[in-house]
Amino acid sequence: MSDRYDVIIVGAGPTGAMLGALLGQAGLRTLLTDRASDIYPLPRAAHIDHETVRIFQQVGVVDEIMATSRPAEQYDFLTADRQVLMRFLTKGSPSGWPAANMIHQPSVEAALRNRIAELDDVELQTSWTLIDVSTIEDGVHARFETPDGQRSVKGRYLVGADGASSRVRSLIGASVEDLQFDEPWLVIDMRVQDPARLPQINLQICDPARPTTCVMMGSGRHRWEFMLRPDESPEQALSDAFISTCLAPWNVDGAVVLERKAVYRFHALIAEHWRAGPIFLAGDAAHQMPPFAGQGMCAGLRDAANLAWKLRAVLKGEAKDALLDTYEIERRPHVKAIIDLALMMGRTVCILDPKAAAERDVAMLAQRSTAGPDVAGEGFTFPPLAGPAIFPGPGAGEPFIQPWREGRRWDDVAGDGPWLITTEAVEAMKGLRVFNLSDPDISPFSAAFLSWLAKHNASSVLVRPDRYVFGAGRARELLQGWSTALH
Ligand SMILES: Cc1cc2nc3c(=O)[nH]c(=O)nc-3n(C[C@H](O)[C@H](O)[C@H](O)COP(=O)(O)OP(=O)(O)OC[C@H]3O[C@@H](n4cnc5c(N)ncnc54)[C@H](O)[C@@H]3O)c2cc1C
Repeated sequence: MSDRYDVIIVGAGPTGAMLGALLGQAGLRTLLTDRASDIYPLPRAAHIDHETVRIFQQVGVVDEIMATSRPAEQYDFLTADRQVLMRFLTKGSPSGWPAANMIHQPSVEAALRNRIAELDDVELQTSWTLIDVSTIEDGVHARFETPDGQRSVKGRYLVGADGASSRVRSLIGASVEDLQFDEPWLVIDMRVQDPARLPQINLQICDPARPTTCVMMGSGRHRWEFMLRPDESPEQALSDAFISTCLAPWNVDGAVVLERKAVYRFHALIAEHWRAGPIFLAGDAAHQMPPFAGQGMCAGLRDAANLAWKLRAVLKGEAKDALLDTYEIERRPHVKAIIDLALMMGRTVCILDPKAAAERDVAMLAQRSTAGPDVAGEGFTFPPLAGPAIFPGPGAGEPFIQPWREGRRWDDVAGDGPWLITTEAVEAMKGLRVFNLSDPDISPFSAAFLSWLAKHNASSVLVRPDRYVFGAGRARELLQGWSTALH
């Protein structure tokens, strides 16, 4: 146990664990703490998108996670009589992974914790509860309640990844903006015994008598969620009788067995500031959304990937502290767009009034018949990142492509970024990997990159360590821009 860390992370849920893994891989001395003794066991995330799969790839656990994940290619919002209100069809993606992937959150978190156990620079302390944090001259001082009494530790930075009721958020005085969503739902996860009797697509049944979610999970599991009416209590909803009444229309007796259950209130919130000096908020501590887009955990993992490379660059003396201000500048609008999507979906589903539901159905069915049937493509697309750590221009701020060739994935070949991928003659540079497209070693990937460059009318692309495009254009300008962004 050290008495001084580069980064202290409060909360070892998916956000904190991913940040810990990324920082540990970068060789930063990291203390990862959690007040719980083990991984949270109740039903939560069932879906991750391809961009977040790519983050798992970065920390070396993707094959384990994808071995039990199932792709989801169709997501339907249906009326009570099963007419299609909205349909999302997804297939491939720019990262090469399926656009939508069904998972079991505790298994994903276990994979991350196993990875952390391999990293010498990360120390995981469970049953440690943060009590207090204060800013000192060159960092933070944090006090924890531990099984051995109170412990005090120092760090250069502290990240509050301590979930919805974040202590760090209250300690830094960050209030939350309430985006006006508050609905109670019963969530049940089932072990599957006869998969042939279950839907093989994801469904929202917009039935005012009982709004219902029915989605796949990682292999061997299936999820239902049922909205509660105002006269139904959580205790009542968790009873066997209530659950079996809700499941009756699905005719799955004998096909599934209940594994776990919980009642949640689904919220949409965003913290009003995510940084106070050396202290940051990430994941559910910074933002929460209802689960209808399957994006809450994905957003936390994106926070981790965004913050990790910036903390690394600053702590290694390669960038000024101001780079860390771009974390919130970039992440807030991105996550807000995702919350808006989740709210649109939630407000479509969570209607209990039959008259309002009938009006919704008429309006949405009419719109679908004129606007065309489906939202189809490579998964949801979100606004590109912008701010001082992005070089404005074509493709800037978007996730970069990951070609797969001859059984190899580009990110695994290229290793940690940043990368300059170029058709120009550029000397090797410290702190940046230069890939010249005439190099025979990367020839299997060149056609994909040349096509990307041609589409963006550029001779070079500079890709940040989080796999987002810093900018595309002439190498000289990109390198100058990169240097300015860091310094
Ligand atoms: C029903 C449901 C379905 C969902 N479906 C999806 C989905 O399909 N896809 C998706 O991406 N997301 C989904 N989510 C959201 C996702 O589960 C969360 O966004 C995600 O778990 C947040 O991760 P986190 O690490 O930020 O916070 P958490 O997972 O809440 O972790 C916070 C950690 O901090 C610890 N902690 C708290 N206070 C302290 C303290 N004082 N000191 C030390 N440690 C502390 C806690 O013990 C906890 O382990 C769903 C959520 C629900 C409820």
